[in-house]
Amino acid sequence: MTYKVAVIPGDGIGKEVTVQAVNVLKAVGEKYGFDFEMTEVDAGGCAIDKYGKALPEETLKACQQSDAVLLGAVGGPKWDTLPGDQRPEQALLGLRKGLGLFANLRPAVLHQALKEASPLKPEIIGDGLDVMVVRELTGGIYFGERGREGDTAYDTEAYSKYEVERIARVAFDIAMKRDKKLMSVDKANILESSRLWREVVDNVAKEYPEVTVDHMYVDNAAMQLVRNPKQFDVIVTSNMFGDILSDEASMITGSIGMLPSASLGESKPGMYEPVHGSAPDIAGQGKANPLAMIVSAAMMLRYSFDLTAAADAIENAVSKVLDSGYRTGDIISPDMKLVGTEEIGRLVIENL
Ligand code: NAD
Repeated sequence: MTYKVAVIPGDGIGKEVTVQAVNVLKAVGEKYGFDFEMTEVDAGGCAIDKYGKALPEETLKACQQSDAVLLGAVGGPKWDTLPGDQRPEQALLGLRKGLGLFANLRPAVLHQALKEASPLKPEIIGDGLDVMVVRELTGGIYFGERGREGDTAYDTEAYSKYEVERIARVAFDIAMKRDKKLMSVDKANILESSRLWREVVDNVAKEYPEVTVDHMYVDNAAMQLVRNPKQFDVIVTSNMFGDILSDEASMITGSIGMLPSASLGESKPGMYEPVHGSAPDIAGQGKANPLAMIVSAAMMLRYSFDLTAAADAIENAVSKVLDSGYRTGDIISPDMKLVGTEEIGRLVIENL
C-alpha cells in the first residue's frame, strides 16, 4: 500500500524536525510493508519569499490531493513586520479552511522518563500522564458575529446541532480506541450554547454504549487538570475552551518539544504537526527536539491510515530512546546524554 503525503517543512526548525519524521516514516514503512509517495511543498515564510504569499494555490492543491499532510512549523522574525493578513501563520488558517479541518486533537503525554519536567508534584503525576483534548476548531466564539456599538464590543458564541454532533463523534471514536472514558467540558450553568452542546453529546453517547461519558464545567475542568489530571482520558470541548484547556494540559507535561497534534475533517486528509513553532532562537543549529514531529507522524499513521501497530512502534521507540537517557537540550537534566536533532532521529529508527 502507498500513502500520499504532502510534506510542508515550513520555516526555522520546522525544516530540521520534518527531515527526521520523514526518515522515521520511511523506516517504519519498510518494517511493516507499506510506503509513501511524499510531495514536498512550501508554506509560511519561505513561500512568502518565493511566491509572495504564505499559502500558494499549488500547496493547497497538493494537500487536498493527498491522503494526509505533515507540517513542521511556520513563521519567524523575518516576517514579523508584515501586516496580520500577510503573515506566515495565515498559511495555517488557509490550510484548516481549505481542508475542512474541524477537530483538533492534542494529546498531552508525559513519559515516565520525563516526570521531572512537569511542574506538577510527582505524587500527582504517578507513573506518567496521557490525556487527549479534542477541540472543536471552526465554530463558536472565534467565528461568531462580532462588532462594536459605541463604547461596547461584542463576540458571539453559536453552535449548531450538526457542529456539535460531528465533533462529539470524533471524540467518541477516539475514546473507543483508548480507555472508553469521555469528559465533555462546557459552561451549561450559564451558556445556552453549552446546554445544546450537553444535549447533543448525550444523544451521540447512545451510539457508543461502551463509552462512559461525563460532563464538567470549564472552570472546574481547568482546576481538575492540575489537581488530578489522571481522572481524564479524552476531553471534548468547544473552540475557545479547548484552546485554553489544551494549552494547560500540554504544559503539565513540561516540554513543548514533545507535543504532537492532529487536525481532522469529515473526510481525508488530516493535518499533523507539532504544537511548537519555528523556534528562531535555535534554528539551524541542529539542536531542535524532533520528537513532537515524529510523534505527530505516528498520529498520522493511527488516525488517517489506521496503521495502529506501526504507530505504536514509533511511540514505543520514542519511549525507549528517552528511557536510555538520550535528550535534546530542551529536556536535558543532570546525568542524561545530550544529543542533537539528527542523533535523536537516528536513535528512534534504531529502536523501531
Ligand atoms: P516556539 O514554539 O517556536 O518557541 C518557544 C520556545 O520553545 C523557544 O525557546 C524555542 O527554542 C523552544 N522550542 C520550541 N520547539 C522546540 C523544539 N522542538 N526543540 C527545542 N526547543 C524548542 O514559539 P515562539 O518563539 O513563540 O514562536 C516562534 C515563531 O513560530 C513565531 O513566528 C510564531 O508565530 C511561530 N509559530 C508557529 C506555529 C506553527 O507553525 N504551528 C506555532 C507557534 C508559533
